[in-house]
Amino acid sequence: MDKVVQNYLEKFGIREETQRFLTRPQRMFIGGTWVPQGDRESLAVLEPSTAGVITHIPLGTTADLDRAVEAARRQFDGGPWRRLKPLERERLLHRLADLIEANATELAEIESIDVGKSVANARDVDVQGTIDTFRYFAGWASKLHGRTVEPSLPGDYVAYTRKEPIGVVGVIVPWNFPLQTMAWKVAAALATGCTTVIKPAELTSLSTLRFAELVHEAGIPDGVVNVITGRGREIGAAMAAHPGIDKITFTGSTEVGRTVGHTAVDGIKRVTLELGGKSPVLVLEDADIEAAAQAVANGIFFNSGQVCDAGARVYIQRGIHDRFIGALIEHTRTMKIAPGLDRDCFISPLVSALQKDRVESYIEAGRREGAEVVHGGHALDRQGYFVEPTIFAHCRSEMKIVREEIFGPVLVTTPFDDLNDALSLANDSPYGLAAAIYSNDLNRVHRLIPQLRAGTVYVNAHSTIDPSMPFGGFKESGFGKDLGPEQLDHLMESKAVWITLH
Ligand code: NAD
Repeated sequence: MDKVVQNYLEKFGIREETQRFLTRPQRMFIGGTWVPQGDRESLAVLEPSTAGVITHIPLGTTADLDRAVEAARRQFDGGPWRRLKPLERERLLHRLADLIEANATELAEIESIDVGKSVANARDVDVQGTIDTFRYFAGWASKLHGRTVEPSLPGDYVAYTRKEPIGVVGVIVPWNFPLQTMAWKVAAALATGCTTVIKPAELTSLSTLRFAELVHEAGIPDGVVNVITGRGREIGAAMAAHPGIDKITFTGSTEVGRTVGHTAVDGIKRVTLELGGKSPVLVLEDADIEAAAQAVANGIFFNSGQVCDAGARVYIQRGIHDRFIGALIEHTRTMKIAPGLDRDCFISPLVSALQKDRVESYIEAGRREGAEVVHGGHALDRQGYFVEPTIFAHCRSEMKIVREEIFGPVLVTTPFDDLNDALSLANDSPYGLAAAIYSNDLNRVHRLIPQLRAGTVYVNAHSTIDPSMPFGGFKESGFGKDLGPEQLDHLMESKAVWITLH
């Protein structure tokens, strides 16, 4: 660990167990065995507020992947896991949830240090969301069933359907909510009786490696959950092509998702794609301006804008435009820019130097194209990957900052006169992950909801996420859903059974 990171951890004080985890050699988890780096290459893991090295992770190989898939297959094809009764699976998932809860502070610290994010949000959102997700899907394990059917064919039959787990599920996730996004996929897969091979994002693998230790401690049989750290273009791509994997569930960019989807479909694998977004927000003139401004600011600047369903394009009815922009700036000013371990931090550093450069280049593009910066607009002149929360006003729909996903603390705003025009602007995007409406006029709200082409519509709120509600996109934001009973359908095959009676 670099001195600069050590100083950072000392300054804010972290738990001894977190310190111990971060300073021991990181190992992959394959078939219930801890696999150290050995003669593999490794990758340095950087802490975003100092740019110092925290630790190194092994770069897994395709031979590691083969071993992980083999272990997952063995458990699925008649191993102890496959023979467990549903209530036993449920009990194991609850035990895992309890262990995550017992280690919640440590997991939140690991997530904050690795991703750079606010430790308070990591505890209240990422880790709590992970616990809730395991509890929610634990309950489903004993409630999955097919149906009996009375066919109209001549003759006598017993006809029924069975729901059977798809098999080995390959889990590929991004770096913005590493633990929670992985949990969405793994909890549901385990509830159905599937087995898993997980590849976390190379930038942020640490919480998943700690999670693997808890999986082991919970007594989940060896090989049911495997974790391989490695590069996306090597291990991720090999997973999408691997004949031993039955389904890929991917969260990440639309660009990579397209490639993963192609490869998976080539092998006739099942696939769920949770991809990028550029979610629109409509602020109507009857909205509660103060409350809406606060929610809109949170909706874009939470996790420093590194949120797939962030409300990144805001359309404001002209009558309230200037007042709303003023309130938005006021709320944004109250958001403390600080390193993630600072408990008052709201705007944390971005995850990497690359992401910081990317966001800065978009801010530059916005200026060049004539959008007006009304707040922020610069990277901070200090160590780490900090960029100010930035608000652009009077943006036009053809601008790059309006069309493309920035994945950083940058909000673009545009006034509108006519609600139909606003609706067209909102839908004028290749993405369709989420949308939000701020209004107290129920009639207008209910008329707008069906017309917005998005997987989620928030009204007077943003990013309210709960395991009981499905999450996933329309259009190029992907297909298939995570969370809710909808996700379970994507992890099970329906088998039709016909029995002729004589
Ligand atoms: P990314 O697409 O670069 O990477 C996502 C994952 O895919 C990582 O684990 C990466 O290692 C792996 N990967 C990279 N190249 C691969 C390849 N050729 N084959 C297989 N796997 C490969 O995305 P990112 O930069 O980590 O995350 C940001 C993106 O994720 C944004 O576009 C964001 O909108 C999206 N995202 C979507 C959701 C959602 O639920 N829709 C949630 C979070 C993030």
